[in-house]
Amino acid sequence: QREIEKRDCYRPALTTDGVRIEVVANISDTGEARAAVDAGGEGVGLLRTEFLFLNRPDAPSEEEQVEIYAAMIEALNGLPIIVRTLDVGGDKAIPYLRMPAEENPFLGERGIRFCLSHEEIFRTQLRAIYRASARGPVRIMFPMVAMTGELDRALAIATEVRREIGAKEVETGIMIEVPSAVMMARELAQRVDFFSIGTNDLTQYVLAMDRMHPVLARHADGLQPAVLRMIDLTVKAARAEEIWVGACGGIAGDPLGATILSGLGVVELSVSIPSIAAVKAQLRRQSMAENRKLAERALACPDAGAVRALGRGGA
Ligand code: PEP
Ligand code: MG
Repeated sequence: QREIEKRDCYRPALTTDGVRIEVVANISDTGEARAAVDAGGEGVGLLRTEFLFLNRPDAPSEEEQVEIYAAMIEALNGLPIIVRTLDVGGDKAIPYLRMPAEENPFLGERGIRFCLSHEEIFRTQLRAIYRASARGPVRIMFPMVAMTGELDRALAIATEVRREIGAKEVETGIMIEVPSAVMMARELAQRVDFFSIGTNDLTQYVLAMDRMHPVLARHADGLQPAVLRMIDLTVKAARAEEIWVGACGGIAGDPLGATILSGLGVVELSVSIPSIAAVKAQLRRQSMAENRKLAERALACPDAGAVRALGRGGA
């Protein structure tokens, strides 16, 4: 089994009826960019740039960031990379950014909220990304967008920065990981080129269950029908506005999760490097027609246990 996966990992993932699903990687450094290509990744669907800011005394400069992004782009050799702007706050604290203690950090200044209140850090990062974008196919993605106003502000800043340095436009998208973003998906989709569903955070916010909680985390399953219905709403809204939807949370790399997400209309799955071969192999096992049927049945399930049972029943 493993041998077949290894040999086949460089071929695209086509369902038995010929629908292609892009399988890309979640990475956090240049070594992983190389490893992603070696493992059959068709690019990077999520660069977690917060890792560039960790374990150092101060923020990386614009030059340092350009160098790092350029090295990743080079390692990908023409394959696309989605660079997510700094996603700190919540469980990700960075000492030198002197982030104030919050009573509820997961409901606090996370992701794009932090960047909009620390605009210099945001502008420096955007300048670096736009400069590096001359080297290869780069997309920009904003995390934790909850409201149209935040997105409008982030897009305005990005456009300003881009014009300042005379860079070309790049495809720009957002993570869908907050329930309000799902409910406002039509309006958000009118403003961007793509969505990527962050099923880890979306699950924790939909269920109001801490994704790291020692007791609750096992219930915080991305295959909960409540989460799947949110994803379904997101894809339908995106289709109505003619933009594409990917997913980059944990269930994208789960074989049953990958099948159901593709059946719901997600066209790009960004997964951890060790999951790439298995996800591609899984997608080749069934037709898209079967995936759609399975997704329909999953949406109608009463709980995550029933969804997991559908997988075991070989629906
Ligand atoms: C997610 O929330 O699903 C996600 C991919 O982002 P992160 O795990 O980095 O919060
Ligand atoms: Mg997230």
